[in-house]
This record gives sequence, C-alpha cells and structure tokens, in this order.
Amino acid sequence: DTDAVIDVRIGALGEHGALLLADDLTRAVRVEETRRDFVANVSHELKTPVGAITLLAETMEDAAEDPDAVRRFAARMQSETRRLSHLVKEIIELSRVQGASALPDAEPVEIDDVVEEAVGLNRNLALGSKIQVSVGGTEGLQVYGSSAMLTTALSNLISNAVAYSEAHTRIGVSVRRDGGMVEISVKDQGIGISKENLERVFERFFRVDRARSRATGGSGLGLAIVKHIANDHGGEVTAWSLPSQGSTFTLRLPEMGRTETVSTGARPGE
Ligand code: ADP
Repeated sequence: DTDAVIDVRIGALGEHGALLLADDLTRAVRVEETRRDFVANVSHELKTPVGAITLLAETMEDAAEDPDAVRRFAARMQSETRRLSHLVKEIIELSRVQGASALPDAEPVEIDDVVEEAVGLNRNLALGSKIQVSVGGTEGLQVYGSSAMLTTALSNLISNAVAYSEAHTRIGVSVRRDGGMVEISVKDQGIGISKENLERVFERFFRVDRARSRATGGSGLGLAIVKHIANDHGGEVTAWSLPSQGSTFTLRLPEMGRTETVSTGARPGE
C-alpha cells in the first residue's frame, strides 16, 4: 500500500523526504508497469509464430500423401522459424541494452569502421532488393563507446531503410560533424512514415503496418534497440519523414577529440 508506506516515512524524513519518496515510488510503479507490459507483449509476439509453426506441422502430417503440399508447408514453416529466431534475437538484444547500466566494452571507436561494417552486414539484403547503398561524408571521426553496439544500431537503421523501400531506389549513409556531435544519417526513398506514426516508431513492438513488417520479418524492436544504444552513448536518434517520399534516421553521438585519444586515451570529461 503506497499511502501507508509514505505515512510511515513522513515521520522519519519530514515533508521534503516524503515528497522525494513519493516520487521514487511513482517511478518504481511505472518501471514495474513497463516491465509487465513488455513481458505481456513478448508472450503475445512469441505465441504468433509458435502457433503458426504448430498448426503447419499438424497440417503437414495430414497432407503426408501429397508431396507438393508438404513442400509448401515446409517452406512456410521455414519462414515462420526464421521470423521466430529473428524475434528471439531482438528480444535478447533489447534486454541486453536495457539491462546494461554502462557500456561493458567501451573504447575509442572509428565511425568509418562502424559504417563499413553496418553497410557490409546489409549488402546482400540490399542487393537482393535491388537497392543501392552509398556512403559519404566526413572521414576519420571518433566516438567513445561500444563498436559492436553502434554497428548493431546503424545496421538496424540500414536494414529498415532497405525493408521499407522499393526496388531501384537509393539509400545514402552519410557522416558529418555538428557542434561536438557526430551525425550519422540513413536516408531512404522509401514508403515514408506519417507524422502521427513517426512519434511512435521508437516504441517497443510498434509497427505502422503489421502485414508489411511481418512480410519483411520485422519484430517492431529494431528502433527501440537503436534508441537505447544511442542513449547509452550519451546521444540520440531522431527521425524525419515524408510519406511516399522517404525517411531519414539520424544517430547523433558525442564526438571524441583526436588529440585526447592520442595523448591520454581517456574518455572526454574524465
Ligand atoms: P520492424 O522490425 O517492424 O522494422 P522497427 O522498430 O525497426 O521494427 O521499426 C518500427 C516501425 O517503423 C516499422 O514497422 C515501420 O513501420 C517503421 N519504419 C522503420 N524504419 C522505416 C523506414 N526507413 N521507412 C519507413 N518506415 C519505417
């Protein structure tokens, strides 16, 4: 009982202390609610592919006499399994970035390497979709953080750009420096996002079009992961879009000065 706890503490802490305590409790209740929502969402999202796979396996058993049907069901089972394993991977990734209070493997990171690796991870996806990815901008910039996590974040933005674009369009990944921040933008010429949905795309499990996201194997967690990674680095991720024109997602991270790296290797501000 929240009220009872506050009453008891007022005596011990005085009015000011009680106010602080009430604030902490509200926050604790909110964290608990968010956690419960997340678990409920995860169970719901996992049930869908597991249910589909179970049903397909049962139907396949009944169709054992018909090799064509068996092949069709097997193909659908494979695609549902892929979806499931992608979802599990993203849930684990999100739990990891949510749970970490500090970056475990923080070090000076070359943005050029992150860009090269993230683009490389999506090369086959882009080729398969006949989408050209080009890279440009300022070279030689550094940030302090986790190279693996930053690569995951940028790769999520690029794979979304591919997933929500048509064939024969272009994606531009560009790097620039802006007032002590390193900006990495991923600009596509895809389907775009309406204003009201744009505010929600960073929410966990939010998808504008469930059917399309399902077809591309989307989990609705990719951008929530990107947001966490950006925040963990003292940065942010923002989105800009015009429906049917395209979208631009921008990661902004505190730049790490070159001279600092060479002389001390210390994190800026330490
Ligand atoms: P998903 O796994 O569904 O792609 P994300 O969290 O990465 O999940 O993205 C959430 C939703 O935001 C997507 O389902 C899609 O509707 C929208 N979205 C993300 N990136 C883009 C983009 N580049 N162009 C258009 N829509 C996008």
